[in-house]
Amino acid sequence: MSSFSSSSARTDTRNCEAKVCRCGLKAVIKTSWTDLNPGRRFYGCALYGRQGQRQCGFFEWVDNETCPRGKEILPGLFKKLRIMEKELKSNKASKRAVIYLLLLSWVIIILLGLICLQLMAYRKNHLH
Ligand SMILES: [Zn+2]
Repeated sequence: MSSFSSSSARTDTRNCEAKVCRCGLKAVIKTSWTDLNPGRRFYGCALYGRQGQRQCGFFEWVDNETCPRGKEILPGLFKKLRIMEKELKSNKASKRAVIYLLLLSWVIIILLGLICLQLMAYRKNHLH
């Protein structure tokens, strides 16, 4: 595996020639998010992941292997990112709740106003 990455992959990374998978389709570039290869891009079959389609299983790295330090740091960073994304989502949800509460309070105020007006009209009619 190491001979493969040192001899062929290194020359392939710099030229922008489109890779063709065994289906004869242009290979798509995807990014790996595994702990072993975080952020490392690879070529894959364009049909991969499509339902009802047969894919050839074509696979080739675009980037050179992630350096040991990157392997050490990146998974932790991605974990932090996921946690932050979750927090952001819950923040958005609470913001939405505040907007709903504001709208609800306005509806209540308007309803109360209408009730007061009706009460006043009722009193006027009954006093005279
Ligand atoms: Zn293919």
